[in-house]
Amino acid sequence: MARYLGPQCRLCRAENTKLFLKGERCHSAKCPINKKASPPGKGPRYRTKKMSDYGIQLREKQKLKRIFGMMEKQFKLAFVEADRLSGKTGDNLITLLERRLDNIVYRMRFASSRKMARQLVSHGHILVNGKRVTISSFIVKENDVVTVQTKSQKMLGIKESLKEYTKSGAKPWLEVNPDEMKGRIIAIPRRNDVTDLEDINVQLIVELYSR
Ligand code: SF4
Repeated sequence: MARYLGPQCRLCRAENTKLFLKGERCHSAKCPINKKASPPGKGPRYRTKKMSDYGIQLREKQKLKRIFGMMEKQFKLAFVEADRLSGKTGDNLITLLERRLDNIVYRMRFASSRKMARQLVSHGHILVNGKRVTISSFIVKENDVVTVQTKSQKMLGIKESLKEYTKSGAKPWLEVNPDEMKGRIIAIPRRNDVTDLEDINVQLIVELYSR
């Protein structure tokens, strides 16, 4: 599966906002967005240009897509699926993205970023209901149990990431046992539950794909 291999911070600079792509570093003073951010490869005039409606919609889509580390084709497929389901397409899209296995591994604090979570999944360190799943886009269901493989439980990166669980816990729709490196999806999240994405205007993304 194709993926973006360039510098992560460059993506935040392009959107002029924090996308939280690098774990702990994003919360530290080392984050370049805390300093003066400027779009990569462009002069200051770029920022002063008034954006068209299309430009605004496009930026919103790019932001959400980059937060989840997805390429255009995957993201579009998620949108098509969200549109096929009943209810509001934008809300469905957020829920579907939240239910991706790489996101769940990140939300359960087994990984400090979605990028690390994706690696854990694709390298076979993660089990869903006792079976190894190596597809990051796997969509979890209510009551699914996600575990770090016994052999992988020694990994320092996972132990380090779980320290964040002791600090701030996990999302309320997840139940996590950090000692057993195991978690359960106790409910499917709704749009309003995903508070850290409340700034994303999903309606703009719906309008973009409806053009
Ligand atoms: Fe974005 Fe994190 Fe880099 Fe800051 S440190 S620019 S939030 S990826």
